Amino acid sequence: MKSHYKIGIVGGGQLGKMLVLAAKKLGFFVAVIDPTPNSPAGQVADKQIVADYKNERAIRSLAKITDIITFEIELANAELLSDLTKKGKIVNPSPQTLTVISDKLIQKRFLKSHKLPVAPFLEIKNVSDLNTVIKTWGYPFLIKAKKDAFDGRGNALISSKMDLTHALEKFKNRPVYVEKFVPFIKELAIMAARNTQAEIALYPVVETIHKNNICDTVLVPARISPQAEKKAKNIAKAALELLKGAGVFAIEMFLTKEDDIMINEIAPRVHNSGHYSIEATITSQFEQHIRAIAGLPLGSTEMIIKNAVMKNILGTKDGPGIPKGIAKVLKIPGISLHIYGKHQSRPQRKMGHITVVGNFQEICLSKAEKARKLLEI
Ligand code: AMP
Repeated sequence: MKSHYKIGIVGGGQLGKMLVLAAKKLGFFVAVIDPTPNSPAGQVADKQIVADYKNERAIRSLAKITDIITFEIELANAELLSDLTKKGKIVNPSPQTLTVISDKLIQKRFLKSHKLPVAPFLEIKNVSDLNTVIKTWGYPFLIKAKKDAFDGRGNALISSKMDLTHALEKFKNRPVYVEKFVPFIKELAIMAARNTQAEIALYPVVETIHKNNICDTVLVPARISPQAEKKAKNIAKAALELLKGAGVFAIEMFLTKEDDIMINEIAPRVHNSGHYSIEATITSQFEQHIRAIAGLPLGSTEMIIKNAVMKNILGTKDGPGIPKGIAKVLKIPGISLHIYGKHQSRPQRKMGHITVVGNFQEICLSKAEKARKLLEI
């Protein structure tokens, strides 16, 4: 079997950039599609096709110049990718998986039908369905957009009639469903990989801390009981076995005070909660994904140091994406700084991240917090 493929990536943001860097390390040719010229991934890839992720002509061009197609966003065109596979193109993970995952309601139904634990949910077609939800569940609950909703942008927490009025306005033209509020004590995530030979590998269970619905900090390993860790790993493995195709997947979970685990959602791609693996594990999630889709042996997911803490660098205002404070940050020992190279900063936009590794989690965390305060973008 050929092992030196040309790889095409749909999406050219930070995930694409880190995938390209990993693929280039192994000597692969990589082309990406992204609508922003000179996108983060475009800056390091062999070629960028400037076009929307769903653009048929662009995807067909990408297919012509590459052997394997993968994606770094759920916005990829599942229908067209599926059509390409029918014509013999290799697309990994499978577009079928993308179809199931890119609609959150379909994803929840799929997980539930396979007996994986998820929060209670209901489809909402009209206002009377919502009244039934309020009567049976009471407040709080969440309204979630079915599609194109990430970083919490498609969610609304409903704790009162007023929240509901605002949410109905916000989601006016978007199909939504509702989900029961889970009083979790922690959020967890696991990166899981499967290659084309069905070999699998699980990364450590990590703890994710969200602010305003966006991941703020990732602690590795998660501060949880051995039982919770075992449950989380079993659930992640069961979820991975259901998903078709090769690649790295993120399984995001809630941990309750009874040490129960529920799946919040699955991403069929490399993920923010796995960025720590660049510095802290033998094989990063990005290299693992490239190995997985290229039919190469998976690498070790073992930690090379006891602890890692990752903190996102989110934009604070509209303006050029030029970071301030880099020199001060780089003075901190044990720190790794990643700046994605986005031309424009916006409030809450992911502009970079910091990873600190070391033998003591508290020290890693305080260094990451200090570094975060020194940097503005
Ligand atoms: P999502 O984009 O659906 O993954 O949600 C973003 C964040 O919203 C999650 O990481 C949680 O912090 C919160 N969240 C989502 N669903 C629920 C839920 N059913 N109960 C409580 N919090 C939730």
